[in-house]
Amino acid sequence: MRLIPLEVGRIDADLDELIGSPGRRLLPVPAWLIEHPRGTVLFDTGLHRELRTGPARLKGSMRHNSVLLPEGADLTARLEAAGFRASDIDIVIFSHLHFDHCGGTGELPDARLVVQALEWEAAHHPRLVEAAVYNPEDFDLGHDRQVVEGRFDVFGDDRVVCIPTPGHTKGHQALRVALESGRLVLTGDCVYFASMLEHLRMPRLCYNADLQRDSMQRLAQMQAGGCRLLFGHDLEQFESLPAEGLR
Ligand SMILES: [Zn+2]
Repeated sequence: MRLIPLEVGRIDADLDELIGSPGRRLLPVPAWLIEHPRGTVLFDTGLHRELRTGPARLKGSMRHNSVLLPEGADLTARLEAAGFRASDIDIVIFSHLHFDHCGGTGELPDARLVVQALEWEAAHHPRLVEAAVYNPEDFDLGHDRQVVEGRFDVFGDDRVVCIPTPGHTKGHQALRVALESGRLVLTGDCVYFASMLEHLRMPRLCYNADLQRDSMQRLAQMQAGGCRLLFGHDLEQFESLPAEGLR
């Protein structure tokens, strides 16, 4: 087993919009590659490659933030740099379906998608699509799809397990991965960066604050129990990870 962090763009974010504090912060947009003996998995797929030339496809939904996707940072380029082809990806697991977590999906035509039923449903809600909270053109592209409900053990061996962490969105999930070096959890947007969990700082953008608090507390407990957390948008932590991956 190996976990390889891929950075598929960045967001220059307004912290006020994110967590209600002043200032700006640079956020990495990760796609996490997991090599399992029975398949190659990606947890989230980063930014859509069209965003390299401008934010038009976001339909004005990111007024105070800007997306950065330089040449060579799109998903296919990142995969190739890590020694993989787009067709090597067997399974894509989504934390949730916001644009910065599923934009590269169209580059992976052979993958099977794994997503929580509640998230798939929410992401097609006419009002949320209209408001550009979700864009089905990012993820509803005719892939084989496995819509799951609740905890889901992807290979049936307890090594790659979807853990529902609703709150940020209706069907948000984290992914627990068992490496030889220990267990870790990819938090997705349940926790943007480390300091949010330390102070149980709530994000501003939230489908349900009570669920979000519960989910953050559950991840904090897992951390206290020895699970390493890899956060959704923590530049300092992301840059500290070895490019060749964790084993
Ligand atoms: Zn999100």
